[in-house]
Amino acid sequence: MKLTKHDIDGYEDVVTCSDKKSGLESIIVIHDTTLGPAIGGTRLWPYSSSSAALKDGLRLAQGMTRKASIWGLNSGGGKGVIAARPEDKTEELLRAYGKFVDTFNGKFITGEDMNISVLDVKIMSKETRHILGAEEKYDPSPFTSHGIVCGMKACAKEIYGASNLSDLIIAIQGLGQVGYSLIKELQEKEGVRNIIAADIDGEKTGKAFADFGVHLVYPEEIYSVKCDIFSPCAIGAVLNRETIPQLKCRIVAGAANNQLAHDVDGELLHAERVVYAPDYAINAGGLIAIYMSRDGATREEITAKIDEIENKIGEIISLSMVDDYPTYLVARELADERIAKRKEWAKDRSNWI
Ligand code: NAD
Repeated sequence: MKLTKHDIDGYEDVVTCSDKKSGLESIIVIHDTTLGPAIGGTRLWPYSSSSAALKDGLRLAQGMTRKASIWGLNSGGGKGVIAARPEDKTEELLRAYGKFVDTFNGKFITGEDMNISVLDVKIMSKETRHILGAEEKYDPSPFTSHGIVCGMKACAKEIYGASNLSDLIIAIQGLGQVGYSLIKELQEKEGVRNIIAADIDGEKTGKAFADFGVHLVYPEEIYSVKCDIFSPCAIGAVLNRETIPQLKCRIVAGAANNQLAHDVDGELLHAERVVYAPDYAINAGGLIAIYMSRDGATREEITAKIDEIENKIGEIISLSMVDDYPTYLVARELADERIAKRKEWAKDRSNWI
């Protein structure tokens, strides 16, 4: 196993790992541990190049720092990425990755993300104890989707004056772990009847159709369908110069990390009067669940905390409207302020000692 450290401005640790025996090619990024050890899931994706994998890891880790901060958690931000095709995921590769995680001695704690399931996380945990979400009952995805539902309610109230979601048309991109449980909750608990969905994986679309009878469209059509809420639950950078002009809704509220391709796309959404629920504010349900599970919190306690997403998103939208300021910047300022204050406090404290 060959580990290489990289110096990247603004990041505490960036380490690449190459393991010939298992075929593991991976990067662990630790963005900031001011608030505590870096917690972030591990994504497995067939990246087109090592620089694409690095770029994804860097952006995702920074998002985790802000996610923990805005939610008042005492954890920092990090992320693991494994460059591989889902079909090349083996026990040997996951165990090698677990060993890689272990080299951080608890400074990095990981769990599931795209193409990494609770079962995969369980395999990693054979090699390291710095793992969260290895128990089915703390599978983060249903908690994440519950948070998305809470955030959608806040948006719907602000924009459509709707007291519930049942009459709205919701378009979901990505029918994986989060997208699937989002549809389940929307239909079974919220009574939503009109769900439009797309995925690039025929098996996922087939299952969603068989289980929920959702209306399916081709992946490239999901941006332009007529709907009330567009919910990106697949990959990042889906809100960009090409897709934003296609949107026919007034709300974007979904689970995917790094939905804005660039900051300017947040400005564009604001100018177009499309309310964007900032990703790391609305998709924190899974992080909150695994964070609270460490202290033995019950499902009820975790759910009560995740329910707060409705108020948080409501607050972000209100501030955005009052100040005519994009939601992504409101969220960023809330998140960065707490970290800056903690850094200041730590500096002062070191002066006293
Ligand atoms: P997943 O891998 O289970 O599902 C992702 C789905 O998106 C897959 O079915 C895939 O085929 C589909 N997809 C990929 N590209 C697509 C495209 N261009 N168009 C349509 N569908 C496409 O991942 P997940 O765990 O459900 O996570 C989904 C997103 O939410 C990711 O961005 C992840 O980082 C984010 N997220 C997940 C959690 C969690 O608890 N799992 C928490 C916070 C954020």
